[in-house]
Amino acid sequence: MKSITTFIAASLFAAGVAFAAAESKPGKCCAAAAKDGKKCEHKCCVEAAAKGDNCTKCGGAGKIAKPAK
Ligand SMILES: [Zn+2]
Ligand SMILES: [Zn+2]
Repeated sequence: MKSITTFIAASLFAAGVAFAAAESKPGKCCAAAAKDGKKCEHKCCVEAAAKGDNCTKCGGAGKIAKPAK
């Protein structure tokens, strides 16, 4: 029984990680720009960023993760 419990716990954990990853994800172009210490200049991304969202047109999802102030 113990292995089944471990399996369920592991899959729940994996699902949680997958959900968290899908919750806030920058678009590919935005992630590349951020890597270089820049902001993505695509119009769609700038507009989404103004609302605090990641650009869904470029593969992003959810809100932009901001460091706690
Ligand atoms: Zn972008
Ligand atoms: Zn975009």
